[in-house]
Amino acid sequence: MARIVMKFGGTSVVNIERIEAVADKVKGEVDAGNQVGVVVSAMAGVTNQLVAYVDEISTLYDAREYDVVVSTGEQVTSGLLALALQKRGLDARSCLGWQIPVETDDAHGKARITAIRADRVVEWMEKGKVVVVPGFQGVAPDGRVTTLGRGGSDTSAVALAAAVEADLCDIYTDVSGVYTSDPRIVAKARKLDKITYEEMLEMASVGAKVLQTRSVEMAMKHEVRLQVRSSYSDEPGTLVVGEDEIVEQELVSGITCSRDEAKITLTCVADRPGVAATIFGPLADAAINVDMIVQNVSADGKSTDLTFTVAEADREKAVQTLKAEKSELGFLEILSDSDVVKVSVIGMGMRSHVGVAQKMFSALADKGINIQVISTSEIKVSVLIEEEYTELALRALHHAYGLDAK
Ligand code: ADP
Ligand code: ASP
Ligand code: MG
Repeated sequence: MARIVMKFGGTSVVNIERIEAVADKVKGEVDAGNQVGVVVSAMAGVTNQLVAYVDEISTLYDAREYDVVVSTGEQVTSGLLALALQKRGLDARSCLGWQIPVETDDAHGKARITAIRADRVVEWMEKGKVVVVPGFQGVAPDGRVTTLGRGGSDTSAVALAAAVEADLCDIYTDVSGVYTSDPRIVAKARKLDKITYEEMLEMASVGAKVLQTRSVEMAMKHEVRLQVRSSYSDEPGTLVVGEDEIVEQELVSGITCSRDEAKITLTCVADRPGVAATIFGPLADAAINVDMIVQNVSADGKSTDLTFTVAEADREKAVQTLKAEKSELGFLEILSDSDVVKVSVIGMGMRSHVGVAQKMFSALADKGINIQVISTSEIKVSVLIEEEYTELALRALHHAYGLDAK
């Protein structure tokens, strides 16, 4: 007997037929003698629709009311799944974020979970009751509803698994695990049996949306055993594990892309100490996260061009912030470009092997793809390229690192 948290994403609960299928899966685990807690997303597409309703009234909305609206998608599926479970003779009930409670900070729209008071849930699970928790939602210290940022139901599931000390947290989705690259783009992507927390964290943070980054962070911190698997089949998925559980470490385990990038260039910036601090200070004050940075060599020793990336959603704000400081910063022009994509290669093997980055640069050069900006970390190399080459680059790199399925 095990204690399991099962999380079902939007495509797994997209209509009543799928919710009934999910109920069968949950019943299967209960019949096998397991204690089960369930976390559900909104039906696929519903959260987007709710966000669009809010935007239609005002794009400069009150984030507290945004949360009241967008958190409702999950409430619907939690009630529907509880009903489907009851129809199968199970003792099931829904339990909303504020009812558990899932306590968060007050950063509405992207709140962080601070604690889950799960005593009652544990008691119910021990008595064989199936608790269905809507993901994505929590409650702020002042009692108002919060949401955890897009894709946040993964984090709800991992947090619940940690709080009830579950043996396993199964993330059910529309693909059968974590692949070497997005299987919807790279047809030859291979499913990984296991991946380390570190690699999964890097992959999620640079675009593999199969898990929300914070959910991996939390799983790593609380040592939650995490499995990504398909709700459409019974095949085993991908286990996210500690490094010690990986027998044979691949050099590169994943290749990802993130289209949510914008490139900003300041031309003719003075080439003297303190300039970078003067530029990035106002951006930090405006809560804009700067990612990749490149400073060109100055031809005359006096001025240089500075290029960096921000999230596409922050592009306009970044440009306005810098324009407002133009006299202080002393650049000539500010250029911005959204037709860029960040492609990243991730692998623990990079810590002990040289030449990984070089292989990436050559493979892209062979396809005539120009690299605009480069950044690296201990287990990752990222490049910024023109968006129209996304698919070509992913497939070329997948092949170059020998990851293609036979
Ligand atoms: P859910 O609705 O279940 O939360 P998501 O759409 O958030 O599902 O995440 C699943 C999707 O993640 C897949 O359909 C796939 O296109 C995408 N994805 C991106 N990179 C990867 C990867 N490396 N492995 C598996 N899936 C990936
Ligand atoms: N429904 C939310 C979203 O679409 C949360 C989730 O599905 O994880 O972002
Ligand atoms: Mg998701």
